[in-house]
Amino acid sequence: MKITPLLTKRFIQIFFSGIVVFIGIRFYLFVSCLENGGIPGFERPAGVEAFLPISALVSLKHWLYSGTINSIHPSALVLFLIICATAVFAKKGFCSWVCPIGFLSEGAAKLNRKLFKKPLKLPLVFDLLLRCLKYLVAGFFIYQIFYKMPGRSIEQFIHSPYNQFADIKMLKFFTDMSTTAFIVIVVLACLTIIIRNFWCRYLCPYGALLGIIGFFSLGKVHRHPSHCVDCGKCETVCPGNIAIRQKTWINSLECSACMSCIEACPEKQALHFELLPSRKPLGAMVMAIFFVLIFTAGITIARLTGHWQNDIPLQVYLQYTAPKAPPAKTFDHISPEKMERMILMMNQVQAQKMQNLQKSEKPEK
Ligand code: SF4
Ligand code: SF4
Repeated sequence: MKITPLLTKRFIQIFFSGIVVFIGIRFYLFVSCLENGGIPGFERPAGVEAFLPISALVSLKHWLYSGTINSIHPSALVLFLIICATAVFAKKGFCSWVCPIGFLSEGAAKLNRKLFKKPLKLPLVFDLLLRCLKYLVAGFFIYQIFYKMPGRSIEQFIHSPYNQFADIKMLKFFTDMSTTAFIVIVVLACLTIIIRNFWCRYLCPYGALLGIIGFFSLGKVHRHPSHCVDCGKCETVCPGNIAIRQKTWINSLECSACMSCIEACPEKQALHFELLPSRKPLGAMVMAIFFVLIFTAGITIARLTGHWQNDIPLQVYLQYTAPKAPPAKTFDHISPEKMERMILMMNQVQAQKMQNLQKSEKPEK
């Protein structure tokens, strides 16, 4: 069997998605054990913090201000930095090589090709407007956290119960999903099947941030016009809808270094993924090794320097997950007038009782 670039990428996607599923199951078991009042016999999987991007951004600001990595969700920041570092070399490669949502999105694109003869493409104006959405969402969070959030609020946020248990809240979002959340997810899934790459292309703020960092990436797709026969096969398969034939270097914010164009190109010298400044072509195998190595190295350094596991004591987790007692009955819902009438009535009843008692105690003459 020939190991093609796409096969190599698929293997890496399955590898990382498998790790994410493993972490998800382990965290679910960890929380379930705590909810039943037990002490889990295994460590909390710190990798779950990859799904706390807001906490990661606040931690980044805290780190830049104080020079220390907070101990509430340290791995959120570590993973955020690793993911951003991948974009310095491999554009938005994280989206197409590592992210499980990107993997699912590719599955949806396959389904799209089976369902529709011609893939549905939005008119250019709509496409451009919708593409702005993910930058607006990313910009909103960056503005709120880095500009609007006062320095003294960072510590407060980091140690707030909201942030401390954000991982459990995120788990509950999926395990106790509300009807609204379910409907939103189904609608997004349907849109991703109908319009190729809908979530990643229009809505994912992580992808927006990586696209911007990736614009300055050292690795880029390079088209060699002297070898290109202008067949257009690269553009047909490009999930980013990039006009590859009009460019020599693909600087687009949408390029996810997926290598689909390189695999589809019939002229093997026409398209390469090259690393600047040497312009050395990088094959899919090198990309695969790069992603595995950068995550392994980053996580190992974080573990060795004590910036991987958080320091929230199990006792605190137990308190948070313990079944809550029903709220005590209060009379706050009764208006003061009604309360006054009730007290008056109770007093009258009491007085009547006393009178009856006195009557019954009088000695008969
Ligand atoms: S230009 Fe090539 S590598 Fe970039 S997204 Fe399109 S197909 Fe993938
Ligand atoms: S697939 Fe290759 S040869 Fe065809 S247009 Fe794209 S770069 Fe040129």
